[in-house]
Amino acid sequence: MTAHVKPKALTDYRTRDFRMLIDGVWTEGTGVIERVAPGHGSVVSRYPAGTKADAERAIAAARKAFDDGAWPTMTGAERSNVLLKAADLIAARTDELAFLDAVESGKPISQARGELGGAVDIWRYAAALARDLHGESYNTLGQGTLGVVLREAIGVVSIITPWNFPFLIVSQKLPFALAAGCTTVVKPSELTSGSTLVLGEILIEAGVPAGVVNIVTGTGLEVGAPMTTHPGVDMVSFTGSTAVGRLTMANAAQTLKKVSLELGGKNPQIVFPDANLDEFIDAAVFGAWFNAGECCNAGSRLILHRSIAGEVTERIADLSKKVRVGDPLDPQTQVGAIITPQHLEKIGVYVDNAAKAGASVALGGKALDLGLGQFMGPTILSGVTPDMAVAREEVFGPVLSVLTFETTDEATHIANAIDYGLSAGVWSRDFDTCLTIGRKVRAGTIWMNTFMDGAPELPFGGYRQSGLGRELGRHAVEDYTETKTLNMHMGSRTNWWMPR
Ligand code: NDP
Repeated sequence: MTAHVKPKALTDYRTRDFRMLIDGVWTEGTGVIERVAPGHGSVVSRYPAGTKADAERAIAAARKAFDDGAWPTMTGAERSNVLLKAADLIAARTDELAFLDAVESGKPISQARGELGGAVDIWRYAAALARDLHGESYNTLGQGTLGVVLREAIGVVSIITPWNFPFLIVSQKLPFALAAGCTTVVKPSELTSGSTLVLGEILIEAGVPAGVVNIVTGTGLEVGAPMTTHPGVDMVSFTGSTAVGRLTMANAAQTLKKVSLELGGKNPQIVFPDANLDEFIDAAVFGAWFNAGECCNAGSRLILHRSIAGEVTERIADLSKKVRVGDPLDPQTQVGAIITPQHLEKIGVYVDNAAKAGASVALGGKALDLGLGQFMGPTILSGVTPDMAVAREEVFGPVLSVLTFETTDEATHIANAIDYGLSAGVWSRDFDTCLTIGRKVRAGTIWMNTFMDGAPELPFGGYRQSGLGRELGRHAVEDYTETKTLNMHMGSRTNWWMPR
């Protein structure tokens, strides 16, 4: 049994009606999308069901704001000040934004507040970078030549985000695009659009001109797809599943747009017998159950040295039983609801198939009935082998697969023998062991004796089918730029044409 917190019905809550933002105007849709709170079972938000025509109007507005508007030509300091003001306004509306993310996505309110704090920090970091965006100069090309390499905003950027970290993920993209001087069309997930639409209000108040940020709600097929094919868009920044990421890249290829993709992960934590196991057990529980495992960075594969596998699995199961699962709005809750009933079913199928393939269910394995909403408690599968689907595919739920190894080579082989390469953890007190794993595992982030730590200064993204490009870090603004060479000549040129 795990610890449960029964959800309380949202009896006092008035469903919020949102409009979308196109060219500075709050716009109704022709239809409405209703969001049922996954932890409470009642409708919490209604967003416009945007259409292809809405997406095209938003792209046209962003195009005009880029080609003729003030935003791209402002000084870096001016854009930076707007971003700093936005950060202050986000901080001031933390309660409202965290509440929306918690009820719409089902994540625990305490965690949603933490994500808002992280987002504010990212907006401030992007504001600092806005003032430091610069190119290069070459004064070494001879007396007659000066080379200047400019960084120019790439243009109109489509930003498409998923449901699992609604406010945090848009904050990993939008402030950097704005810092560079780009204009944007943003499409949040149809399941969790509320906080992104509030962000639209914040950006207007902060001084972002009309058309610079457009937010169109609706489905991926209706609104997202045109944002990846339209010739008026210069770049697509997408976070979501690998399947849709692949499609996005193919769509963008028709007009050769730049793409930046943050996709799925199946992240290993490799644990050696000399590790500080007390520290690791807590990190394993955090890595696996944070955001109910609906996290691209989830530490969903443990690769344990055979000599400690039994003891470690038992200790992880014992601690997991104390993790509080339930009402996203209870401040004590650590694991909230599962995003949709269909997704809960998909997670269950993974567990059932793993059991059929020979894995043992060491903890959980079934949906929890807490009266309202849909929940699943921590589920641990032991005896998982590298060939099983549950060891290779992203379950995106609270399901932890335990595998074992004997040698360092075997551990790295298991870690690398899948299609993903987003992140990984290694646990050992031996420096050589950590560094060997750190160098050999092919993933965008390797945590050593910790897990899922981050900072705006540190680039984030995946190898192989976990994505393309990096977010955050000091190059994040450059990602939203084009490079232009100014090749300048002084004095007389050596003529090409010679008289005979
Ligand atoms: P999806 O890939 O289904 O959706 C992501 C976004 O793309 C949504 O806004 C969706 O719209 C939109 N979309 C869907 N189809 C299209 C299309 N044909 N063209 C353009 N846009 C489209 O992912 P989920 O929302 O289900 O999120 C979960 C997935 O995201 C997981 O697999 C996870 O690994 C990954 N993820 C990766 C992260 C990373 O940084 N690496 C971070 C977070 C999540 P809609 O759903 O509204 O119809």
